[in-house]
Amino acid sequence: MKNFMLTLGVAAMAFAGCAQNQDTGKPAIDMANFDNTVSPADDFYQYACGGWMEANPLTPEYSRYGIFDQLDKENQEKLKELIEELNSKPQEEGSVGAKIQMMYAMGLDSLKRNTDGAEPVLSQMQEIDLVSDKKTLSSVVGKMHVESSNPFFNFYIGADEKNSTMNLLQFFQGGLSMGDRDYYLLDDENTLKIRNAYRQYIERLFTLAGYEAANAAKAAETVLGLETEIAKVSVDRATRRDVHKNYNKMTVKEFTTKYNFMDWEVFFKETGICKSVELNAGQVTFFDGLTKLLKKTSIETQKEYLKFKLLNSASNYLSDDFVNANFDFYGRTLQGKEELQPRWKSSLAVVNRSLAEAFGQMYVEKYFPASSKEKMVEMVANLQNALGERIEALEWMSDETKGKAKEKLGTFIVKVGYPDTWKDYSDLEIRNDSYWANICRANVFSHKEMMKDEGEPVDRTEWGMSPQTVNAYYNPTTNEICFPAAILQPPFFNPNADDAVNYGGIGVVIGHEMTHGFDDQGRNYDKDGNISAWWTKEDEEKFNERAEVLVEQYDKIVVLDSLHADGRYTLGENIADQGGLLVAYQAYMNTLKGKEIPADIDGFTYSQRFYIGYANLWAQNLRPQEIMRRTKTDVHSLGKWRVNAALRNIDDFYSAFGIKEGDAMYLAPQERINIW
Ligand SMILES: [Zn+2]
Repeated sequence: MKNFMLTLGVAAMAFAGCAQNQDTGKPAIDMANFDNTVSPADDFYQYACGGWMEANPLTPEYSRYGIFDQLDKENQEKLKELIEELNSKPQEEGSVGAKIQMMYAMGLDSLKRNTDGAEPVLSQMQEIDLVSDKKTLSSVVGKMHVESSNPFFNFYIGADEKNSTMNLLQFFQGGLSMGDRDYYLLDDENTLKIRNAYRQYIERLFTLAGYEAANAAKAAETVLGLETEIAKVSVDRATRRDVHKNYNKMTVKEFTTKYNFMDWEVFFKETGICKSVELNAGQVTFFDGLTKLLKKTSIETQKEYLKFKLLNSASNYLSDDFVNANFDFYGRTLQGKEELQPRWKSSLAVVNRSLAEAFGQMYVEKYFPASSKEKMVEMVANLQNALGERIEALEWMSDETKGKAKEKLGTFIVKVGYPDTWKDYSDLEIRNDSYWANICRANVFSHKEMMKDEGEPVDRTEWGMSPQTVNAYYNPTTNEICFPAAILQPPFFNPNADDAVNYGGIGVVIGHEMTHGFDDQGRNYDKDGNISAWWTKEDEEKFNERAEVLVEQYDKIVVLDSLHADGRYTLGENIADQGGLLVAYQAYMNTLKGKEIPADIDGFTYSQRFYIGYANLWAQNLRPQEIMRRTKTDVHSLGKWRVNAALRNIDDFYSAFGIKEGDAMYLAPQERINIW
């Protein structure tokens, strides 16, 4: 993982009258989205989105399907068209066109994958077999980090959070293949069921790789046992949000002496780490625990673990038996999906990842008009202005902190559409040996790209998302907000729509990303992207008091049966949703200054249209398994609560829909909380 970014989870944008020649044929608000049997005062989400949810039930391939996923699906069709165009004419050997073409074709070629079976991964399995001591173990672990998987921990090169113009070697806890430590440590019925399915999955992979039944079962016990011990020393998800606790800079020498579970000299050689004098050790309690744990763990046990990590990473790129085993656990058990997505979609996802910017360049040329970029930049400026006004007017903040906050707001780097310079893929080789071999080569390529940054200044022009990604992000160390081309489409950005709907859509998205710069994590970074104490003590306390109210509000939400939302884990996103709504609404109001009040459209006032536009972004259906999984692993609240829980705090929403005491959407004024 690279430096953490705060994403939207789904995004969109819109600006009335922008982008000529962009008639999408989509209405600003689709009347079919409503459920008119429900009052907006009782359940605004159901009222605004119930019709859509009923008309779009989950199909077997999805565990969540929402308006966001619908846009994503339409976008996949566009990307598929690009590949079909490539395939319609001969591509010069070694060109990016030929690389994209071959990578995609290898993914579709199930005949070859099924004939090859486990063969593409066997030489890597044998390398693990040959491990006999700490030295050979460290060599294999290093090699795996470069080409296949990340056993035991993660590392990356990224901005030093206290010296943000320079890159720093960063270590981060890891090693668990179920995503969260809870899956290993809780003993409720559902977790036990998942853990049992996981054990069977490990066993199945070993069997497919040639283990005899009894050995495969034993190996699965061994692996689950070791991962459970790793889970015990892992830091929980709420603590990982604390930027101070996760910054532990030390010299490389100190790290390698203290955490001597690896032969670091060998590991560094394999991974190409050579210039670093200092590093960030991330979660020191984790590395302490891992050191103690691996000291008492036999080499044989570690080898079984490494083999599983390898097989798990390779499984989606080997024969259908492997692919199905992977799907049965990660898709069916963890997410409740009933069917694998069609092969063209998973093959497309690989091209999207491994040749991201080459593919993105083609996407932008065909689908992204320059006019969208101009209009978006203009809208961002309006939002920036509105947030500045809101900061100025905050009752709870001192002038001193306000000054610094506005300075930070004024220095945002804004990225829209696509990067100015594109990544060069000439060194990436795609061959017809095996799909998995190509995946490994793509991993090696991106590892080398990352290692070029070791010891170097941070390149602030680099993009953290490809242009064809339907999402947006804020990066605290560069103080940048980024809106890739693919989110600048309806329902987020609809040139056919009135301003009210577009400000409720992309406007809120822009405001959401801006507010990340001032959420419980982002607010710790100053205008230059450094963690520093730029707040007065008193303002910090006031912020925390307010944030705590939001934590409690969301903690009370029941997402499924007796399962509650995790208010602390989702705090940053909830602050950003609320900030996005407030700032976008104010920016919209500013555009109306000195003008006539817009006439009602479809029977709705402009402010009603703003909130309906927002709610419609989050219409979604989810399977119960997916609700449980997201509560542990997704920092974003579920769609329903991004709407209902966020709007309950906003006074303008009450007046727009006449919400009164006694209504289910009603919160007493003293219980409402606004932060930004
Ligand atoms: Zn976000």
